[in-house]
Amino acid sequence: IRVLGIETSCDETAASVVALDGGGAPKILSDIVLSQIEEHAAFGGVVPEIAARAHVEALDGIIVAALADSGVDLADIDAIAATAGPGLVGGLIVGLMTAKAIAAAANKPLIAINHLEGHALTARLTDGLDFPYLLLLVSGGHTQIVAVRGVGDYQRWATTIDDALGEAFDKTAKMLGLPYPGGPNVEKAAATGDAARFAFPRPMKGSAQPDFSFSGLKTAVRQAATAIAPLSDQDVADICASFQAAVADALDDRVSRALNRFRQEFPSELKPALVVAGGVAANRTIKTTLEALCEKAGFAFVAPPLKLCTDNAAMIAWAGIERLRAGISGENSADFVPRSRWPLDSISAPMVGSGR
Ligand code: ATP
Ligand code: MG
Ligand code: FE
Repeated sequence: IRVLGIETSCDETAASVVALDGGGAPKILSDIVLSQIEEHAAFGGVVPEIAARAHVEALDGIIVAALADSGVDLADIDAIAATAGPGLVGGLIVGLMTAKAIAAAANKPLIAINHLEGHALTARLTDGLDFPYLLLLVSGGHTQIVAVRGVGDYQRWATTIDDALGEAFDKTAKMLGLPYPGGPNVEKAAATGDAARFAFPRPMKGSAQPDFSFSGLKTAVRQAATAIAPLSDQDVADICASFQAAVADALDDRVSRALNRFRQEFPSELKPALVVAGGVAANRTIKTTLEALCEKAGFAFVAPPLKLCTDNAAMIAWAGIERLRAGISGENSADFVPRSRWPLDSISAPMVGSGR
């Protein structure tokens, strides 16, 4: 099976060809990602109108390059898979309409993919993981814990009730005058900071409710920064280190609850696995915390290569292969309409034909 994947839901324009032959391991034949970070940096965040325009300008060339890189002719592609949501609707329209046009012209099936399903299934592409497993998705737009039970079979166990974790990093950076994107810059500043200087809140810690919350932490950071302004470099470093420690502690509490629940619901799994995905998974402090937690709880800790943790099209092509293989989307979904909101646990039903 060979699938061309297209991803345009946020600020990355991406195309990829992934192949699965017989019983072998899947192969990523090409994987091109064009990040728009520079276009958005001046605004301190993703500007939807600029994103949509940049996708229009870049997508054709990126698809041509992904096909050329893969060495596979369009005629030998089995299906086109494109992100149909959730995300910024302008970008989704560009990607899905382009995919529909290619599918129609080449007479191939089109598979409309949920972006979150792409993230959820990536560990099977990179690590050959078996179902079920637990997924922690921490990106700029999402903070979720999902029980991945099968293709199209996802249960969301926790989500954020306010800001996404990556968003909290980005806003913290902005408050401190650090450049966009905030996550890597907060981490860099934190390296020389004192994590014990500020006692920031650990949102939701100890709560029986499974969800995340980060806006209170953001407010605490703002108050601390205002109270000691003007900030020296050392102040900024100390705030970043204290913020990161609070985040790691809060994640530890939230994820540890989910690991316990997983043990109860899937008692037959001898060594269950926790998979992390999303840009925030790049953070060393967070990674180390989760690794230690998994070690203690007897879970395998699976962190796919960063390039496949952040937005990319290989995960979309792979989700297409998974759906073709499972026989739950072999038909043409050419009349599927992009959805800016599309929760992962609402896609359990086979996604063929009209999405309306
Ligand atoms: P979506 O949420 O739709 O999947 P996104 O583009 O917002 O898309 P990603 O590209 O997966 O998400 O990740 C970007 C986010 O990850 C940003 O918020 C960024 O600040 C954060 N991030 C990146 N590196 C780090 C890091 N080292 N530490 C903390 N956060 C990081
Ligand atoms: Mg991104
Ligand atoms: Fe994403």
